[in-house]
Amino acid sequence: MTTLYPTAKHYLSRDHYTQSFGAEFTPALRVAAGERIHVQTWDCYKGQVLVDADLIKVIDDSQVNPATGPIFVEGAEPGDTLAVTIVDIKTEARGAARFSAGEGQLHQKAKGPYGTFFDVKDGVIKMNEKVSFPISPMLGVIGVAPEKGSILTMPAGKHGGNLDNNMNKIGSTIYLPVKHEGALLGIGDMHASMGDGEICGTGVEIGGDVLLEVNVIKSMTTDFPVTETSDSWITHGVAVEDIQEAMKLACEEAAGLLVHHWGFTYEDAFIFLSVACDLGIAQNVHPCEGTVIAKVRVPKISACPKPFKI
Ligand code: CA
Ligand code: ZN
Repeated sequence: MTTLYPTAKHYLSRDHYTQSFGAEFTPALRVAAGERIHVQTWDCYKGQVLVDADLIKVIDDSQVNPATGPIFVEGAEPGDTLAVTIVDIKTEARGAARFSAGEGQLHQKAKGPYGTFFDVKDGVIKMNEKVSFPISPMLGVIGVAPEKGSILTMPAGKHGGNLDNNMNKIGSTIYLPVKHEGALLGIGDMHASMGDGEICGTGVEIGGDVLLEVNVIKSMTTDFPVTETSDSWITHGVAVEDIQEAMKLACEEAAGLLVHHWGFTYEDAFIFLSVACDLGIAQNVHPCEGTVIAKVRVPKISACPKPFKI
């Protein structure tokens, strides 16, 4: 337990971080299923953006997106699903957002490099004298090791990674397909807030503390991670610089849940997805190179009960 989180069985500081999800990495922590873990995370710049001049400096990309971990979860084996519940997130008091020249949807209109600090206090984010808005903390990076080799924490994929879904927030459970023994979970890239699309390339980038609970669901898996919120299931689709392909994959994942877990035909799934579900964009920082992420929200109605049993 820790002072901040008395129900935590374990604590992992951000001194234990990795820039990749790797099958051969030595675990920083071993936990049992059902246990709670207090995890401290860096901001995505790993402390490189502290003073005004840092907002427009060239960032050392090799230091970006550190994920605290890897956490070995006992009993997790390939073919299982790791269920990670974000019980709580406490951000630090100050975050930053920035963009470089040529980055993001408005790169032809807005002159980069440019950036802003935000003060975070009592549930409110203050951008400047005029602009304040409620905090909505989330984790940009949450992932597990691939089957073999390693994947940087920058892209997203079937292992999770930089999913940048603002629904990966307090109270949500993220279901990650286990590819390697122990899963080797890592989390990072905390945002005090991030809009759908993350169009300038960042959310309110900030460090902080997270309380997680991990569980293992045996012999059941999905292709990409799935997020459960209080009222929805959210699937992910990831592609490299191709939002249409990412959207197609997110739709196929949603149809897969409906067909394989809830007994829909593909035809009825197609209609239901079209009339009652939401296709959206998690992250699309065009024209930056890298993965883009689409999501589909399926409401929790009685025909779509829990697909995974903890
Ligand atoms: Ca991110
Ligand atoms: Zn971020």
